[in-house]
Amino acid sequence: MEAKTHIALVTIPVFSHQVSLLEFAKRLNHLYKNSFQVTCIIPTISDSPSISSKHYFDDLPSNIQCIFLPPINFEDLRSESLVLESQVQIAVTRSMPLVCETLRSISSSSNVVALIVDSFVHEAHEFAKELNILSYIYFPCSAMVLSMCLYSSKLDETITCEYKDHPQPIEIPGCMSVQGTDLPDSLQNRSSLAYKLFLHRSQQLRQADGIIINSFHEMESKALKAISLISPKNLYGTTFDVYPVGPIIQTRPNIKKHACECWLDNQQPKSVLYISFGSGGTLSQDQINELALGLELSNHKFLWVNVRPPNNKATASYLSNEEMDPLHFLPLGFLQRTKGQGFVMCGWAPQVEVLKHKAIGAFLTHCGWNSILESIVHGVPMIAWPLFAEQRSNAALVTNGLKIAMRTKYNSKGIVVKEEVANIIKGIMEGLESGEIRRRMKELQKFANCAIMENGSSMKTFSLLALKWKSLSRPIED
Ligand code: UDP
Repeated sequence: MEAKTHIALVTIPVFSHQVSLLEFAKRLNHLYKNSFQVTCIIPTISDSPSISSKHYFDDLPSNIQCIFLPPINFEDLRSESLVLESQVQIAVTRSMPLVCETLRSISSSSNVVALIVDSFVHEAHEFAKELNILSYIYFPCSAMVLSMCLYSSKLDETITCEYKDHPQPIEIPGCMSVQGTDLPDSLQNRSSLAYKLFLHRSQQLRQADGIIINSFHEMESKALKAISLISPKNLYGTTFDVYPVGPIIQTRPNIKKHACECWLDNQQPKSVLYISFGSGGTLSQDQINELALGLELSNHKFLWVNVRPPNNKATASYLSNEEMDPLHFLPLGFLQRTKGQGFVMCGWAPQVEVLKHKAIGAFLTHCGWNSILESIVHGVPMIAWPLFAEQRSNAALVTNGLKIAMRTKYNSKGIVVKEEVANIIKGIMEGLESGEIRRRMKELQKFANCAIMENGSSMKTFSLLALKWKSLSRPIED
């Protein structure tokens, strides 16, 4: 009798990263008739937002088992000066002893053939070598960002000033050139801890046997090709392989229709702008006011979800939860004045269902990679409003590179003022340029859906990986 092939995953305490890796596992099992047993180890931090994620984990199929590690002490990391990526990196490092102990226990009772970890969990590769199993990075971002990571040590050697002060755009292999200010947050201050951790993490990517990436050939062929070319020999003398498997997006079986979907049912096709800043993005009070007044001024219908209390730190809601009545921070009278025009909610929205809805005409997004892929899969043009992490690089990709989005402009104080909000909404919902953007988005949508169809480019990658892992699985002995 053929044994199920066991693979182990390790993710990080960030919902969007967890979902992407688990969706990869779900798809693998869907394609290979549930012949994989998956165990996912999840480091946790106390007080992390859990309402949204809880439902997701409750709905996972039985062949995916999640092991939540006890929360690690995180209090000292909630300091203002650490960027989100550094907080996450240190939290993951602290949980490594527990991760290794759990992996050891799983592999002592089962034939685990491969370890697949988030790029923040690079310390696990050493451990995979000890267990003599294959180790992979699951990279839940674009090939452009992966190319930036792999090229970061070269940039460090060749550019002496801060990247944001570099007089020319920065050249990254396989990518269009980007302004220094559009490089990821961690690269913005070269004397920071975040910078050192980024460089180190990027170096460690090379230790894996392969990098599985949530992108697809038809969208980022040049960057993917460049990554294959710049992969030097890794520490073990072989070059690592890059496996594009995207677009992988969130799926949930039979979720109950949300009130916002019922509202959408009553709107005209392509008439509503959907607004979300991801699973934790926050705006300052001034910015909330300008966005709200700009929405009102645009006269377009809108669905604004996950409206969060103001905070000057854009990542404030990622690792902690604060709830507040929106009447306390939205402009006075805004909700009454826009009653027929918009639907505003503080809670979690079924984003994929919303983007699928025929009433949605465009998506104002913070440019998280999952949100971008979800928009592409559903052919919805975007307004790019990046906040932090690698979101400005993503914004550059979807505007200057793929030309499927318009990007917001800031005033000298770093605020997108209400007139700009109204103009860009009109631009994407009704302007001439939006016709071209919509056309390109439809084209990319077709490519995205082809990539994950039978014989599509990403499906071929899946079968390559699946066959390799299956060949390592031992039959059950009688
Ligand atoms: N999401 C959702 N409902 C919400 C907000 C977000 O389902 O109200 C999902 C969204 O569909 C995406 C993920 O959360 O899958 C956000 O990931 P992304 O990479 O876009 O941004 P991040 O949360 O990492 O900033």
